[in-house]
Amino acid sequence: MKTGIFIISAPSGSGKTTLVGRLLQELDGLHFSVSYTTRPPRGQEQNGKEYFFVTREEFQEMVRQQGLLEWAEVFGNYYGTARRFLDEALEGKKDLLLDIDVRGAVQVKKKIQEAVSIFILPPSRKELEWRLRHRSQDSEEVIRKRLQDAAQEIQGYHQYDYILINDQLERSAEQLQAIVLTERWRLQKESQAQPEPKALESMRALAESCLKERVQTRVQPILATFGG
Ligand code: ADP
Ligand code: 5GP
Repeated sequence: MKTGIFIISAPSGSGKTTLVGRLLQELDGLHFSVSYTTRPPRGQEQNGKEYFFVTREEFQEMVRQQGLLEWAEVFGNYYGTARRFLDEALEGKKDLLLDIDVRGAVQVKKKIQEAVSIFILPPSRKELEWRLRHRSQDSEEVIRKRLQDAAQEIQGYHQYDYILINDQLERSAEQLQAIVLTERWRLQKESQAQPEPKALESMRALAESCLKERVQTRVQPILATFGG
């Protein structure tokens, strides 16, 4: 069995945490990679759960020791994926889910061509602002900053295989699951010739509706709401 590598990126407030939470609940065999970061914990975050919180020196040592599959400086802090998460996924025959930024995604794709990348987009800037406000997690200043950063991050959408426009939550959750299941099947098929199960047909159609080439015309008006 081949290990699938799934990369998910999104501007803050798009619904990534919600969708990834649903995916991990609904599908077995997915291993979530807990990143290393130099930013301090927020709210209820626990070391080893959301992130491994380390000092800049510890992080730089990991870079020197080549312990990171990828890393990037995001908003003034370092973030990176430990190579051992990939090794553990390979050994445990599990698929690996990476929640990383655009630059990290590009590095992983360069090293692992068959990695599958998914970019989650909000339906518009207005909706993103509404979600950030209603999440009631950030100050006004932080919300402004997140909206500014979002305008920049979404420019990188074209480097992804799939674009998931998170409008209706239920549909988006189904689409994300369909992408993972379809890609899993594609990987298995490469190692064993099997006919495609009937149930996979509709799943594949749902996944393919999110392929970048298929959503291009829907993405442009969204970018326009961000001034892009
Ligand atoms: P992220 O992890 O991308 O920062 P969250 O998962 O925290 O985003 O979602 C931001 C807010 O938007 C949360 O309050 C969440 O419940 C809400 N949300 C997520 N997806 C949708 C959706 N499709 N429609 C409406 N609200 C959503
Ligand atoms: P936050 O501090 O809000 O949790 O995350 C900020 C950004 O860092 C998000 O875009 C998130 O995807 C990204 N990020 C988290 N972990 C990693 C990682 O290991 N590598 C890279 N490149 N980005 C990461």
